Amino acid sequence: HTVIFWFRRDLRLADNHALFQALQTGHLVQPVFIFDRSILGRLSDSKDARVTFIWQQLQALNTALAPYGTSIKIYHDHCLEAWQQIVAEFRPQQVFCNRDYEPAAGLRDLEIQAFLGEQHISFQSFKDQVIFHEKDVVKADGNPYTVYTAYKNKWLAQYEIAGSDSYASEDLLQLLQPGIHPLPRLAELGFQASEIHFPENEAYDVMADYLSTRDIPSLENGTSRLGVHLRFGTISIRKLVAEAYSMVEKTFLKELIWREFFMMILYHFPHTVTKAFMPKYDLIVWRNQQAEFQAWCEGRTGYPLVDAGMRELNHSGFMHNRVRMLCASFLCKHLLIDWRWGEAYFAEKLLDYDQSANIGNWQWAAGCGTDAAPYFRIFSPMLQQKKFDPNLTYIKKWIPELTGFGYPQPIVDHTLARERCLKTYKSALNA
Ligand code: FAD
Repeated sequence: HTVIFWFRRDLRLADNHALFQALQTGHLVQPVFIFDRSILGRLSDSKDARVTFIWQQLQALNTALAPYGTSIKIYHDHCLEAWQQIVAEFRPQQVFCNRDYEPAAGLRDLEIQAFLGEQHISFQSFKDQVIFHEKDVVKADGNPYTVYTAYKNKWLAQYEIAGSDSYASEDLLQLLQPGIHPLPRLAELGFQASEIHFPENEAYDVMADYLSTRDIPSLENGTSRLGVHLRFGTISIRKLVAEAYSMVEKTFLKELIWREFFMMILYHFPHTVTKAFMPKYDLIVWRNQQAEFQAWCEGRTGYPLVDAGMRELNHSGFMHNRVRMLCASFLCKHLLIDWRWGEAYFAEKLLDYDQSANIGNWQWAAGCGTDAAPYFRIFSPMLQQKKFDPNLTYIKKWIPELTGFGYPQPIVDHTLARERCLKTYKSALNA
């Protein structure tokens, strides 16, 4: 009988856990991918770069599979409808995939699993996106950690013992079911190609100097730019972590642990999708001025480092982490705009958008999350600029008109904004 392997956030042939397990069954394996109409329908930009990225990746996978006389069969439908077609077409008895930890994906998988179960088709999912999933690294009493440092220490202690496996799926590709299926054109999916340049998925050389380069936004190779590859699984987290773990300097590894920390938090505290981790912070009375939000989105606040960051985001789908922290803090604290507005804007624009990381970091910046920056610590945009872009190299790249006419005055005075923020937060927390 046929076994189906369902590609999702794991768009690679090498070291792919569920693909490996499917190929181990001894049956022919048909790989499938679903362009989910419900997800695509929510995207507002017909040139959404993530759709182009996925599409290009599928094309590359099919090119790599061509010598084996096989390819991924692509569906474009609502998920359940696509599965009805897959079942009718291949009559599988088993379905394999890698687990997706986002709350909405979890619900979708339960629905599909139930549908398959009715037809006596088994659905098995495997750990691939993370080293440790939500219940692997918990406190002695079984409760989840809510403080990063404690989580990280336990994570490291467990990695030291367990190490990580590898799954040589790439050696078994001859067991895929023969058959060449065409890849629909982007236009058939209702999209156009984005012109955004995607970073390479090799950045091992960044790790050695990471500690000294990671806070300099003008350095293009100062950080790995692997976010998009981790998002769509075009790189193996096991290989990346093994490499990072072998470094004497472990700062890069600690960033990868932040990623798992926030995934674990979102899993255990799904209310954070729409509400603050700490409920008191939901009492903040945001100003939510639409015109100010628009100025922030477009990089017209008159604070150069904030504006450069927003323009980088709008232009490239990427923003440097230092600058993300400042832009997020500025929106919540200087403009007193609800962190959810900013979170949604980043979700729309970031190539590396990941629900858990985005929410976790936004709540950190707003001061309302786990392990958050205390609310009374308010970044000064000008000090941040002096510290991280003293020669204006990054700023001038994104704001060529900086010193000429046309660059706006600051949207709000820093001292005034600071006091207004303290007052607003205090009255919410004392309520
Ligand atoms: P590197 O510095 O090279 O780090 C390597 C990888 O480690 C990253 O790709 C990422 O997977 C992980 N990582 C690093 N820092 C963090 C962090 N603070 N939290 C979680 N994972 C981390 N990261 C996302 O992946 N998706 C998001 O949607 C996202 N939204 C953010 C929103 C805000 C407001 C802030 C302040 C940060 C956000 N981050 C997000 C975290 C971080 O900014 C990005 O992961 C990083 O800038 C991506 O660039 P890089 O791949 O070069 O990272």
